[in-house]
Amino acid sequence: KLHNTILELKGNIRVFCRVRPLLPDDGAAEGAVVSYPTSMESLGRGIDLIQNGQKYPFTFDKVFNPDASQQDVFVEISQLVQSALDGYKVCIFAYGQTGSGKTYTMMGRPEAQEQKGLIPRSLEQIFQSSQSLKAQGWKYKMQASMLEIYNETIRDLLSTNRSIGSDPTRTESAVSGKQYTIKHDANGNTHVSDLTIVDVSTITEISSLLRQAAQSRSVGRTQMNEQSSRSHMVFTLRISGINEGTEQQVQGVLNLIDLAGSERLSKSGATGDRLKETQAINKSLSSLSDVIFALAKKEDHVPFRNSKLTYLLQPCLGGDSKTLMFVNVSPDPSSVGESLCSLRFAARVN
Ligand code: ADP
Ligand code: MG
Repeated sequence: KLHNTILELKGNIRVFCRVRPLLPDDGAAEGAVVSYPTSMESLGRGIDLIQNGQKYPFTFDKVFNPDASQQDVFVEISQLVQSALDGYKVCIFAYGQTGSGKTYTMMGRPEAQEQKGLIPRSLEQIFQSSQSLKAQGWKYKMQASMLEIYNETIRDLLSTNRSIGSDPTRTESAVSGKQYTIKHDANGNTHVSDLTIVDVSTITEISSLLRQAAQSRSVGRTQMNEQSSRSHMVFTLRISGINEGTEQQVQGVLNLIDLAGSERLSKSGATGDRLKETQAINKSLSSLSDVIFALAKKEDHVPFRNSKLTYLLQPCLGGDSKTLMFVNVSPDPSSVGESLCSLRFAARVN
């Protein structure tokens, strides 16, 4: 009886933790005194974090070791991805401080086959499945979009004529006068005005989309490093299927979200103007936690309208939708404080 109650109270949000490998830049070599990476055990579902000799244990639905490959991770989410073809609304988030491996998990290094992330792998799997379901009479139409939310402003990452320059405040909408207004229709479908929607029904269209996506990311890396760590990237694949035999119809959505770095959220020491700026930039991220906690506690009022990100994803976060959050963690000893914040956040979600 008690067990049932606990299960009911528990949110429907699954949490996977991924610890990235130690990188040469992490500077752990010189700080060999700190045995943080070796003292951190990843045993499938549990993870222990050690700070100042104190042990903080956490349990999640899955914990990936630093040596888990992109394929190892994808295997664990492939069914969730597949359910978008069955008509589910799916959201997969990557949460964590800057440098913890969010973009690597989501996008990976698309130029290296084995380092491709969840987005290319998901697209490939959905494409292959849709091909094999043809034999059973299924016909699918798939459309992708990719946007960025920076300081509550939407930017189109698939627009072919982006002339942004290096000033992160000169957003595309300011240049082109585009609105990017978010609307939900009566069928629970979301529309963002002026946003580029790309058909992805052939393998050629998929590779061209991924090339464009990778290009958008690299622009972000070289010209707008600061902005990219403060912005949320939302990749959306809309799937409409119809069975020509049974006339059954399905409408699924797959959202893959590379969130802004969580570090500023936890810097509670900021005051005055600093704090205001921090709050504005992190509005979407803190609103997302409010929404997720409200959903997890099954509260009547869920504050979806408080930010662009939560409003955009509203139809995909409640009801019978499926949500998974990756909490990405760096093994860098200097990151232990942030890692603890991320793990505590994720534990509350889970
Ligand atoms: P974030 O997006 O959270 O800021 P990144 O994904 O850019 O972090 O990762 C930071 C660095 O670590 C990048 O150079 C990335 O290639 C590398 N990295 C992250 N995760 C892994 C991993 N699992 N294996 C190898 N390298 C990784
Ligand atoms: Mg990133």
